[in-house]
Amino acid sequence: MTSTPLPIHSLTLGEIEARLAAAGQPQYRGKQVAQWLYEKRARSFAAMSNLPAALRTQLGEEFLFQELEQVRVLGSADTTRKYLFRLADGALIESVLIPASPALYGEASDRRTLCISTQVGCAYGCKFCASGLDGWSRNLGADEIVGQFLRVEELSGEKINNLVFMGMGEPLANFAHVMQAIAILNAPWGVGLGARHITLSTSGLAPQIRELADQPLQVRLAISLHGATDEVREQIMPVNRKYPLAVLLEACAYYTSRKKQFLTFEYILIEGINDRVEDAGALVRVARKVRGVKINCIPYNTVEGLDWVRPSEARQDAFMAVLEAAQIPATLRREKGHDIAAACGQLRRQTLAPTVETTGEE
Ligand code: SAH
Ligand code: SF4
Repeated sequence: MTSTPLPIHSLTLGEIEARLAAAGQPQYRGKQVAQWLYEKRARSFAAMSNLPAALRTQLGEEFLFQELEQVRVLGSADTTRKYLFRLADGALIESVLIPASPALYGEASDRRTLCISTQVGCAYGCKFCASGLDGWSRNLGADEIVGQFLRVEELSGEKINNLVFMGMGEPLANFAHVMQAIAILNAPWGVGLGARHITLSTSGLAPQIRELADQPLQVRLAISLHGATDEVREQIMPVNRKYPLAVLLEACAYYTSRKKQFLTFEYILIEGINDRVEDAGALVRVARKVRGVKINCIPYNTVEGLDWVRPSEARQDAFMAVLEAAQIPATLRREKGHDIAAACGQLRRQTLAPTVETTGEE
């Protein structure tokens, strides 16, 4: 063995090749291994049957082959499926598979979106979100991010063609591992998912938004805005104290000046907090400050233990009418999977809760 074994799904082809070369293997072995991992989806080194037995043994010494363990899977009526996984150290994370359009009106679309996690817990503590309720434990490795994609495709038997980083955690706070995972997911030797089919979501880390703007990668970006004045936003998103709206919007404007794609502002509608007609007016003013912005409104998804309420459809419609009158591109996304606690972090909490109660840990 040349050095400490690393999870093989955390490495690029170049890195696998370099490690194999250092172990005395010819370079072309790297491509063969990547093909087994991402094209043939081998589930162990032993399964890589056209490689010499000695090489397979050596791979097991040079690299770790880790697979996410499925703890629970919940399906809902509209076929949104939520997976709870246990990682090698016992930590729990969630991934949610969402069909683009349920077959309510004629043919269902065949676009399938996977929503994945990037951290165990979250340090940002947004007041409406289940993921932050128990704090932050650690960043996920690139292999654990890529692993969610591979495992859900394997378990569901379905091909995923759209990926969103909207599960547990703040992706831009785990920048290096998220970028490495995207490189593997995007690469022709890897999963081969187009960058335009990958969306990062952030609570508004302004410096990292600028860093992303300077990268050549054409992934999409969504900003969790949820408040269009500092007063409202600060009340529900503590990150706003560190990066107030003016700072965030400047970073967003920089991003759209460097990139060709749209930027999306995510806006959860929470009754009495940010869903008044005057809030919609403030949102119009904010949207006008950033060229190429689209707004995605989402009615709040109830989280056990939190007091926030989803507004009535009449209130939602009144809010949308203000955006429409101002000709701001906006959509209202009526949540799928409401019935299986699909908002990020909720399934994990339900599973963790009994342990916390019986041991009295906190
Ligand atoms: N940390 C990143 C990505 C994960 S959160 C971010 O905040 O953008 C992904 C999205 O889920 C965010 O827009 C978040 O605001 C939303 N979300 C969290 N809790 C929700 C809830 N209870 N109902 C609806 N959306 C929720
Ligand atoms: Fe963290 Fe995003 Fe949830 Fe805020 S919304 S607590 S940043 S996961």
